[in-house]
Amino acid sequence: MKIGLNLSFAVKRWLEPKFLSSMIRNDLETRYIQFTWDLLDPWWPSRQRDKIAREWSQAFKKEGLILTGTFGGLASYTYPQLMAPTAEQRKISLDFFKRAIDMSAAMESSSIGTPLGGMTHNDAYDEKRREEIYSVVLDLVRKLAAYAKKKGLEKIIIEPTPLFTEFPNDPKNSLKLMQDLNGTTDVPVRLLVDWGHAILEPFLKEQADMENWLNKCQPYIDSFHLQQTDGLLDRHWGFTHDGKLNIDSIRYVIEKYNLNDLIQYVEIIYPFEETDENVYDDIRKTMRMLQNSLGEGGY
Ligand code: FE
Ligand code: MN
Repeated sequence: MKIGLNLSFAVKRWLEPKFLSSMIRNDLETRYIQFTWDLLDPWWPSRQRDKIAREWSQAFKKEGLILTGTFGGLASYTYPQLMAPTAEQRKISLDFFKRAIDMSAAMESSSIGTPLGGMTHNDAYDEKRREEIYSVVLDLVRKLAAYAKKKGLEKIIIEPTPLFTEFPNDPKNSLKLMQDLNGTTDVPVRLLVDWGHAILEPFLKEQADMENWLNKCQPYIDSFHLQQTDGLLDRHWGFTHDGKLNIDSIRYVIEKYNLNDLIQYVEIIYPFEETDENVYDDIRKTMRMLQNSLGEGGY
């Protein structure tokens, strides 16, 4: 299978494009990378931002790395985004995502990916408001897809997240979202399924199984986030950690559903207070283990 790397592990640690690119090239056994907006904020003034964006993409290129897309990180996930309680805030979020598209275009990235946002408790638990917000969000995603096309991007990727205040958050409503958008957007909109979100038991109960997601949504799935987890909280652990996933169960699913061509982006999020030495060691071991047991032989 294809193992890629989301750059979340580097946040607050390795911020120089050349240094990080050579670390990935020499030590982290992959060539497919997904850039995180936690390394470069789409809100920054566009001229200076795009200059930095190009420094990143040129450094990746120099090391032979393939930037397959840019992706929302922890910072942007914190805000309500397209599901905010007021139209004014949702419009600001649309502008934010448009800026992320601009930044991605400057990096010659062909896609952006992100969760869609999160509702306030009072909206999430009011069935009528929930429906209203759902249809508003459909419209905003269509607007975003039109903008992506104008800027030369090829697709938009949506990551289901686990909370009840968010959507999509289970296999069924992920499929519904894809069907509702299908054929109505200027560029295709697809799903990225995060293993850690997909098997989170407190929310999904008996549905907390990757096979449920694949049985329902497979034709719409573009790629995956791969992380170790205990299924209780969204851990984003490295694979040096014991957890609910193991190499054999991942391999079983990949082979059964013929997923070898889709990229599994390793997305590990370390506590900020973890030492750089430990993070380096853990991500290196994680990538080597996954590449040796499941990968195409690495770089
Ligand atoms: Fe993820
Ligand atoms: Mn997550």
